[in-house]
Amino acid sequence: METRLFINGHFVAGEGDVETLLDPASGEVIAQVAEASLDQLDAAVAAARKAFASWSTTTPAYRAGLLLLIADLIDEEAEAFAALESLNTGKPYVRMLEDEMPAVADLFRFMAGASRCLTGSATGEYLPNHTSMIRRDPVGVVGLIAPWNYPLMTAAMKLAAPLAAGNTVLLKPSEQTPLSSLKLAKLLAGILPPGVVNIVPGRGESIGAALVAHPDVRIVSLTGDISTGQKVLQASAKTMKRTHLELGGKAPVIVMNDADLEEVVNCIRFAGLYNAGQDCTAACRIYAAPKIHDKLVAGLEAALGSLRIGSPGDATTELGPLISQRQRERVASFVERAAQQKHIEVVTGGRRADRSGFFYEPTLVVGALQSDEIVRREVFGPVISVTRIEDCDQAIAWANDSDYGLGSSVWTSDVKTALKISARLQYGVVWVNQHLTFVSEMPHGGMKMSGFGKEMSMYGLEDYTVVRHVMMNFGGGSTGFNG
Ligand code: NAD
Repeated sequence: METRLFINGHFVAGEGDVETLLDPASGEVIAQVAEASLDQLDAAVAAARKAFASWSTTTPAYRAGLLLLIADLIDEEAEAFAALESLNTGKPYVRMLEDEMPAVADLFRFMAGASRCLTGSATGEYLPNHTSMIRRDPVGVVGLIAPWNYPLMTAAMKLAAPLAAGNTVLLKPSEQTPLSSLKLAKLLAGILPPGVVNIVPGRGESIGAALVAHPDVRIVSLTGDISTGQKVLQASAKTMKRTHLELGGKAPVIVMNDADLEEVVNCIRFAGLYNAGQDCTAACRIYAAPKIHDKLVAGLEAALGSLRIGSPGDATTELGPLISQRQRERVASFVERAAQQKHIEVVTGGRRADRSGFFYEPTLVVGALQSDEIVRREVFGPVISVTRIEDCDQAIAWANDSDYGLGSSVWTSDVKTALKISARLQYGVVWVNQHLTFVSEMPHGGMKMSGFGKEMSMYGLEDYTVVRHVMMNFGGGSTGFNG
């Protein structure tokens, strides 16, 4: 297990404070990781800056070749990555291996191809005797800050696009889950030139904040909480940094009377509880039309009750633990406050699971009003609320009545209703008769306080480039404007 920092192509012991990592399934210590000191952070930024001079001038084809190699090695080591991530996060091993590992490799494969296909607007003569062209160039040194819920997937998402575009990077994994990123560093060390990728574990308030404040870092990309995004935005103002923010979510799921009940129940069982609900697009805020409401509640009660809670290493486990004791207490306190409301019924769950580790039972909360905390705030745990709606317009209004704007879904068998609702939802992603599926070709990102900037897709690649104008005078002497 690698616990050292990765700076300028070498593994070095961290010189900062030590973070103790726990196995969420048992609460036992699995590793100690010393974070980077401020001097080590400076050294990593300097290495990235130096490497930028040559990496940014490599051809897209060259970079694509290396990214494809990375993807192949990730595939080869998929089982070891899945086991390590499962140990550090409590994710069920089989889900990690079968769902996340192929997606992680594909993120590198997609960006390898995408880097060779960047397009721009026309080159032309917009002033007599002058040719103008648009360039898309890398931004410079990129600071990447990842959360704990999908550590390796987020690392891949955050690394592949800026590298493909010719930037050099520093990645700061979450202080709670650095192990899979450090294993990835082992693999990258044999492929990428020194300094192109540097991995510096540490806490947000120390290394994260120093990374954001650093004058030689030109763009910061954060996936995390809204409050962290606000701090990053404020701190970035001092050095006029670009920012790319993937923040929290509270996904509305609109279920109309004509939805396929079995399909919606099965999907919410999966998409609301995947990763123990610790997902920024989790299907957690259900709005059910009057005629389907009671059947949906009954179906979800049975479905949630049938979820198999268990050890992450057990192949039949569907629901693992939450990341930490702190996160479990946070989730429990949301449910306890909801249960105190007379109009709310906790239909199933609502308890810490009776086993060691940080498990919480899958929980269904019914009767919640639009104004209730459980409908308005991100719980980030295995908790789903159901609220009755009168009609389609009320569903749209309530779904949009939220600070968040990341993922959403609508369930109906009428194409006109699907089109109307998906056109009016203020969310970066709208699924129709589906929830929580992703493809590397399509953008993922939020609106409103869920942030801005896109992960994946050509848009994600473009976010790590700067549009520049080059104008060449070929006639001599002419000056002025084209108006
Ligand atoms: P967090 O905001 O606490 O931490 C995220 C990262 O930011 C960590 O690496 C942390 O060390 C760092 N950080 C904290 N304070 C910082 C500061 N002042 N300066 C710089 N860095 C700082 O979030 P978390 O608890 O790790 O993750 C859960 C949150 O992430 C949830 O709100 C979830 O919705 C969000 N999330 C969003 C997406 C998305 O795609 N939009 C995906 C996954 C998770």
